[in-house]
Amino acid sequence: MSRNIEELARDNVRALTPYQSARRLGGNGDVWLNANEFPLPVPFELSQQTLNRYPECQPKIVIERYAAYAGLQPEQVLVSRGADEGIELVMRAFCEPGKDAILFCPPTYGMYSVSAETIGIEYRTVPALENWQLNLPAIADRLDGVKVVYMCSPNNPTGNLINPDDIRALLEMTAGKALVVADEAYIEFCPQATLSGWLKAYPHLVILRTLSKAFALAGLRCGFTLANKPVIDLLMKVIAPYPLATPVADVAGQALSEQGIALMRQHVAELNASRAWLLEQLPQLSVVQQVFPSETNYILARFADSPAVFKSLWDQGIILRDQNKNPGLAGCLRISIGTREECERLIAALQALSVEKA
Ligand code: PMP
Repeated sequence: MSRNIEELARDNVRALTPYQSARRLGGNGDVWLNANEFPLPVPFELSQQTLNRYPECQPKIVIERYAAYAGLQPEQVLVSRGADEGIELVMRAFCEPGKDAILFCPPTYGMYSVSAETIGIEYRTVPALENWQLNLPAIADRLDGVKVVYMCSPNNPTGNLINPDDIRALLEMTAGKALVVADEAYIEFCPQATLSGWLKAYPHLVILRTLSKAFALAGLRCGFTLANKPVIDLLMKVIAPYPLATPVADVAGQALSEQGIALMRQHVAELNASRAWLLEQLPQLSVVQQVFPSETNYILARFADSPAVFKSLWDQGIILRDQNKNPGLAGCLRISIGTREECERLIAALQALSVEKA
């Protein structure tokens, strides 16, 4: 019997709704505030001009520089095609499709579920509490069969850090049973909160990092997984033979030089100042109902009529990220911090939509 191509695909892939990345969603803007990118490019040079040879699987200079930056040993660092690949490598190395599960706490980053669905792993959700902290008793109740818990801190899209005491409790309750993956994609905006110092105490802790946010290299596709050697050794078994293109390793090495890191820190300071300015401005607008605190390069806000605000800004070329479909985030839009001029344009456009607040 002949079957059409669609029928030949795996059931879970046929049922899958792919991740709606900002770039897939499109738009015709000139103020892009929907992907938490850094708004301006950083300089780089391609120092290696030959591409006839395969690259190193784990480029030494990139690994050594990231290890030094993170305060870890090179054997505790794995580099991959963005943090997104790290999310998936952990599932591929630790979860048996059809048997094991992962768990995460929405609202949070969308790729944990998409990767699980793609691979064919059950995902369990335990909604975050109203203050977006972990619901520890509910997590404890649902841990049976769970091999990996994904926890994003600071969390995308809410912007908050997870309480360290709760993370410790999560690590205690999962010890010997499951890994805890702490997604630190935005940690450069609140570096004091990193869990990297906790790797010594917890063999089942894994940390994800990226060059896509504070390092201003989203187009590079370069991310890191930090963990103890036994975890890294397992991930190395399932990673592609040549995960990073030669030019990627070249640019990543420059970004992780002393000057690269200093520039990143200066950029973080600038964005944090613009975030403070936006956090002051947004609550004064009548279209804005609620503004949530943020430790990141984005702000989540609730609007009285978010579809109208989203559309009006879209039509003016200011592209935000709609969060209406995310559990608990009805009426919410996520705003990436752009340049100061972009922030000012956003506020001016929102002012035009607002009536005077009494
Ligand atoms: N984790 C979180 C929380 C993110 O927001 C993102 C980027 N959207 C990623 C991981 C993926 O980062 P990368 O660009 O390194 O794949």
